[in-house]
Parts: sequence; C-alpha cells; structure tokens
Amino acid sequence: MDKILRGHHLLCVHGFRGMGYSPGFVRRMAEIVADIRDESKDFYIKTVEAFDDACMACPHQGMEECEAGEGSNEHVLEMDGRVLRHLGLQHGKSYLKSELILLTAEKVIPDDLDTLCANCSWLSYGVCKKGIADLRKKHSKGGVFDERS
Ligand code: SF4
Repeated sequence: MDKILRGHHLLCVHGFRGMGYSPGFVRRMAEIVADIRDESKDFYIKTVEAFDDACMACPHQGMEECEAGEGSNEHVLEMDGRVLRHLGLQHGKSYLKSELILLTAEKVIPDDLDTLCANCSWLSYGVCKKGIADLRKKHSKGGVFDERS
C-alpha cells in the first residue's frame, strides 16, 4: 500500500485525467491516483528525485534514467527538485499521504505550475492547474489559506 513518488508526480496526481505514455502507464497511474484520491485510505509515500511507482510502468523508463527524449532525465529531475523544495520535503523521506495532500493544497497555487512544471508537455492542457485549483477549493474550508488565489 505504501508508495514511492517522485517530486513532480506529487502534483501530477491531482491533474491526472487518464492521459499518459502507454495503456500500461495509464493503468498504473490510475491506480496510484485512485488510492491518493480515496479519502478512506491513508498510507506512507516516500518522496524521491528518482524513478518511482509510475515510472516502473512507463515505456520511457531506461536502465538508469528517464529516456522520454533528449534531456528528459535532467528535466524531470529538475521538476522533482523544485517541487520537493517548494513543499519543504526531502528526497528519500516518507510522509503520510494526508499530510502531503494538505501541504500541496496550502503551498501550491495553480500558477506556481508555470515555474514548478516549466517545459512539461502536459502543462498546456490545463488539467494540472485545474487539479490544483480544485484541491485548494476542497481543503481551504472557510478560506483558511486564501492569501494566494
Ligand atoms: S516519462 Fe520519465 S519521469 Fe515520466 S513516468 Fe516515464 S520514466 Fe518516469
């Protein structure tokens, strides 16, 4: 039940709408996302700047690094690092899912993705920003953290 997620996938899981790199990848991502969105479940997630549970089902996973395209490994590692730093998380440490969701809702606004996810091919679809906006709406009961929109 516990999971390993790379930094930038901590954001992807809120925007995921069934798109992905292959049917196998989409199935794996859908399972991860279902567990994350299921409020009756809580579990530990180890946050990493490395391959994670989603990468294990990805056709672009190379022997040692992401091979989605020219420079993709550096690109995904940079996104991982930016997201972990933004959320105040560490590589290789485990956190409760519920804690990570709240942290994301509090500390990330949709427009942060322009920087955190810069150059990601999925960003222009708009579903990722929408996912973060919905997450904030859901968890900001009474506008507790409405200092940024
Ligand atoms: S494209 Fe690269 S970082 Fe993204 S899931 Fe596939 S192997 Fe992992």
